[in-house]
Formats: sequence, structure tokens, C-alpha cells
Amino acid sequence: MSWESSAVYYQLINKKVKEKLGGFHSCKSIMVTVDFAEIEALQHQDHWDELDKMMVASALQLEAAGADIVILCTNTMHLSSPAITKAISIPFLHIAEATGLVVSEQNLKKVALLGTKWTMEKDFYKKYLSDNFGIEVIVPPLAERDLIHRIIFDELVQGQIKAESRTIFKKIINQLVTSGAEGIILGCTEIPLLISAKDASIPVFDTTAIHAEKAVEWALS
Ligand code: GLU
Repeated sequence: MSWESSAVYYQLINKKVKEKLGGFHSCKSIMVTVDFAEIEALQHQDHWDELDKMMVASALQLEAAGADIVILCTNTMHLSSPAITKAISIPFLHIAEATGLVVSEQNLKKVALLGTKWTMEKDFYKKYLSDNFGIEVIVPPLAERDLIHRIIFDELVQGQIKAESRTIFKKIINQLVTSGAEGIILGCTEIPLLISAKDASIPVFDTTAIHAEKAVEWALS
């Protein structure tokens, strides 16, 4: 969620399977999509328990439909990952696990995280990377976090890609480089619709692409 990035996941996963298996191969998958209006309202009202229930219900639907593994196509809603992993009996590939693996491959120790204000401010994502990979995570100051959050919700999840917002992101990225960031995690699945490697002077980690790729590798292995 939003469907803007779910569509990207769907394409990337199928492309990767074709790349790996060749020929006419594509990915057998089952997708549960949600009404993002309901999700967004609950997020902004801080009703995280209700969201946990919705994420668990969706994951159980996938398991009941015969899925071998589950991925949740958003960073923010990994806030529900403890509830999901407790409820299902099939494996769940955490997006921060996939991202941490790729950041570590490049031997980076201090990275900046861009995402919704919940992803940047709550502990679940930063702590996952520091506990499991020893990666120090920094985030932009409050005013910039609010700006990023506004661009995500007013534009990106609604499919609007604006040059002026790209300029704002690039400025924030430059400030983070000055603060010592060695890499930038695009920790919101819609940010890669706006920002790519060419917009930064340091490595950029596209969590949508990383998660989709690792999910395919994981499933095929
Ligand atoms: N897709 C987004 C993410 O990766 C944000 C949308 C949401 O708040 O769920 O965090």
C-alpha cells in the first residue's frame, strides 16, 4: 500500500522471476489489496491496534489461500510485523531485513532513513537495523520530516510526481550527507517514484526494489 507502489512490486517480482527462470516464467502470487483510505485514516488517528488486526487478517487470508511466504508491501505497516508473525505459520520477509542485508553488503555503518513520520520517528525500523545489522540510522530534523510526510501523502501515494518535491528531497538528502550519512534508505515504498540513485551523491537504497528482489530470491531458494 498504496496501490501506486503495489503495482511496482508486482512488476518487479514478475520481472525478477523471469530473469531467474527465463522463458515464459512468471511469479505465482496472491495479492490482498486494501482500501488505502481506511488505512490512512486509522494511521493518522493513531489506531495501530486496529491496523494490526487488519494486517493480520490479510496475512491469514494469504496463508489460507496457499501462499508459501508473505511480504507486506509497505515500510510503515511493518509496525504490525510482530502481530503478523505471531498469527501466521508461514515465513514473513521483513522489509528492514531485506534492506539491512543490502546495506551491510556495502559495508555502510551510518545511513539516513526517509519515510513517513512513523517510520522515521518510531523505533520499529531504526531499531531493527541497529539490533540486527549494527547500522546507525539518522533521520532529518522535525521540519524536514513533516515536509517529507506531507509529500508522501499529498502527492506520492496519489500518483503525483512533482519536480519541486524532488528538489526538496534532494536538498534534505544533501543535508543528511553533511551530517555524516553514508547511504540513504528510501524507506517508503512510494519515494522511489520520485527519487533515484542519480539524485544523491551517496548510495541510495530503494526498499521497494530490494524487498521485491529478496522476496523472489528467498522464495526460489
Ligand atoms: N507505502 C508507504 C511506506 O512504505 C507509506 C504509506 C503508508 O503510510 O502505509 O511506508
